[in-house]
This record gives sequence, structure tokens and C-alpha cells, in this order.
Amino acid sequence: MAYSEKAKSFYENELKGIRQGGLFKEERYIKSQQAAKIRVEYPIGAPIKDVLNFCANNYLGLSSHPEVIAAAHKGLDERGYGLSSVRFICGTQDIHRELENKLSAFLGMEDTLLFPSCMEANAGLFDVMLDKDDAMIADRLVHASIVDGMRLCKAQLYNYKHSDMAHLEEKLQETQHCRLRLIITDGVFSMDGDIVKLDKICELAEKYDAMVMVDDSHATGFIGKHGRGTHEHCGVMDKVDVITTTLGKALGGAAGGCVSGKKEIVEMCRQRARPYLFSNTVPPVVVAAAIKVVDLISESTDRRDKLEENTKYFREKMINAGLDIKKGESPIVPVMLYNAKLAQDVARDLYEEGIYVVGFFFPVVPQGQARIRTQISADHEKEHLDNAITAFTKIGEKYKILSKKKDEIIAMYGM
Ligand SMILES: *Cc1c(COP(=O)(O)O)cnc(C)c1O
Repeated sequence: MAYSEKAKSFYENELKGIRQGGLFKEERYIKSQQAAKIRVEYPIGAPIKDVLNFCANNYLGLSSHPEVIAAAHKGLDERGYGLSSVRFICGTQDIHRELENKLSAFLGMEDTLLFPSCMEANAGLFDVMLDKDDAMIADRLVHASIVDGMRLCKAQLYNYKHSDMAHLEEKLQETQHCRLRLIITDGVFSMDGDIVKLDKICELAEKYDAMVMVDDSHATGFIGKHGRGTHEHCGVMDKVDVITTTLGKALGGAAGGCVSGKKEIVEMCRQRARPYLFSNTVPPVVVAAAIKVVDLISESTDRRDKLEENTKYFREKMINAGLDIKKGESPIVPVMLYNAKLAQDVARDLYEEGIYVVGFFFPVVPQGQARIRTQISADHEKEHLDNAITAFTKIGEKYKILSKKKDEIIAMYGM
């Protein structure tokens, strides 16, 4: 063992720095299934409390849906627990292919390949698609997993100001000399909840002969009239070349991700994507449940419709109550507080009121943009939404932030 005093004190110091920076993350123990109403032990050792969950990615309320759980049980019984193999050796069951085909049909794409997660789909995709003669042109606010995926790819990296189409066009002009070019973006940006201008991006992509990639992790299943995603919402179902998305959010929330798109790109991933080749196959229990999820959302739009209604209701009532909400349409509803400590204090007080939310601050969001990110679910009933609105109003009054403008909140609490 060479875990020396030097190594130990190095890590201790790093951790101290994290704590002193106010960046230390504590886990909270949930003692129930994931749902609108959860049982939480927080802080650890405190009495268990029933609270309403407003921070899960459980957009469609499918994480603990009885039919999904039943399908998982059946998958477990019929196909076993694990496959002890990567896909290309002996880790592919017919149900893996069945799920891929169903996802292709739902997303309106030519083919789909499952990955252990969307993080791994993003880690594998760019390196497979592009080489040093090519260019990646990415929105500056893409998800961390895309940032990491781009680091693993030798193509030249360009980025454009968030959702700034004029700046994207400049970058497309700058990169005309490159062999292949790929525009890279999130579908719904996870911190602000804003939706990509995918119609404009596709127009530019056509004009400049570039491909388009969208990570629709915060969109698949509920954005667009049938919940197919941002390409449906923006009317460009046939113009996006490749999508990555997760099964870990709206689609049951367990695990897994995929690359879906042009069949040559998907086949290249099957041949060469390293996280696909060198990491274990998605377990049958997850695959079986995900097939049920895709069936449910393909058969009926009831859940995404309810989510849309819930979102409209919550946004409108929160704005009327005087809270500073970032405008938009997605079920990600950021309540702006600007100051990191204020965001944490408000989240703690809301927990006391039975509303489970989390404060987000630098470096997760830019300095001076601290907030509570609420997320709406189809599992929320009107009564749940009303409880949250009442609690936000009460705590907002306590901190005197209702109907205050950004500058006024910053003047009171600082950035
Ligand atoms: C959550 C998320 C991921 C990661 O998905 P996993 O399947 O959990 O790895 C990737 N990209 C975006 C945009 C996400 O929001």
C-alpha cells in the first residue's frame, strides 16, 4: 500500500476546498419508490418526512408505473438478471433489437443502438462520426456528457453562443474548409429549460451542408404533440441526422441510452463506438420495462398531455404569485433567486413545508444565476401543484422576494 500521508492530505485538502467553496454535495435518502410523493430522510438521521417531489426527471410519472414494474418483473423472470457480456459477444437478446426498433419508430429515425447510458452514447458518438479533418460546432451550453464526448474526438472544436443563430452561421462560414461538419446541441437545455431553435439550425445546416445532432434527454417522451422530441416540436422530424437520448429520465428512469438516426451512423456506432463495444449490455429487466414504456407512450399521448397542462398551470400560477420564473414551455421551471445562499435557504424552508426541491448555483449555473429548478411531472395532481405554489408563496413572502425584479433581489441578497 502506498497511500502515503502525502496522497491522503492532498485529497483531504481538495475536499476541504470543496466544502469551503460551498460546493459539497450531500445525498438525501429516499425511503420509497420514485413518485410525486416520496418519503425522505434528510438530513441523514432526521425523522422521515413525506414530501412532494419537484426535482425528479420523472416527467411522465413512469418511474414507478405499475405496468412498467410488471413488465420489468416479467423480463426478469423470462430473460434473467444479467447477461455477463458486451452486446457483440453474447450480450444481445432479441428484446434488445425489439426495443431498438420501437425506439426508431417512435423517434422517426432509420435505426437505433442502445448504450449503457446517454452519457456513454455521447462519449462514443462523435469519435465514431468525425476525425481530425472534420468540425464539431456546439452550442456553448451543451450537457457535460457532450463536452466529455467531444474531448474524446479528434475533430476540430468550435462553439457558438447559446442559441445564437447568427453566431452559429459565422462558425459555419469559418469551417467551410472542413470535410464533414456536425452541429451539436441539447434539445431542451437542462438548467433554463429552454428549447433549441431546431428549425433554424436545420435551415442553416442545409444551407452550409452540415449534419445535425441533438441530445433530447430532457425532451424524449413529452416534447412535441406526440412526445417524440424537439424535432417534432420544431417541425423538423426528417431533418435531424442523429439523436442521442436517455431511458433514465421520462422513459421509466432506470438506465440506458441510445443513438438513433441515419442507418450508416448507427451502424458505425455498432462497429466502433467504444462504450458500446467495451461496456456491459443493458440488463434484460431494463429492456423489458423500456419496451413497455415505449408501447405506452406510442399508444397514447395522455401522459404528455397532462404534463403539458400541469406545466402551463404551474408556470402561470407561480408567475401570478410574484415568483421570478424563467419563461418557457418545458416542464423545467427555474425559480430565479440569483444568490447561492438564498437558493439554499429557500430550498431548506420549502422542505419544511413538505416540498422537495434543490438549490442550483455556481458552477452548475453561471455565477449570479442561482435558482431552484422545479420540474413538473404527469404524476403531479392539481392538489400537489397547489401545495407547491402555496409553499413558494409563503417562503417568498418570508424572504420578501415576491413581485421583486432581478435587480431588487440582487440588491437585497447580493449575487
Ligand atoms: C441526463 C442527461 C444525460 C445523461 O443521461 P444518462 O442516461 O443518465 O447517462 C445526457 N445528456 C443530457 C442532455 C442529459 O440531460
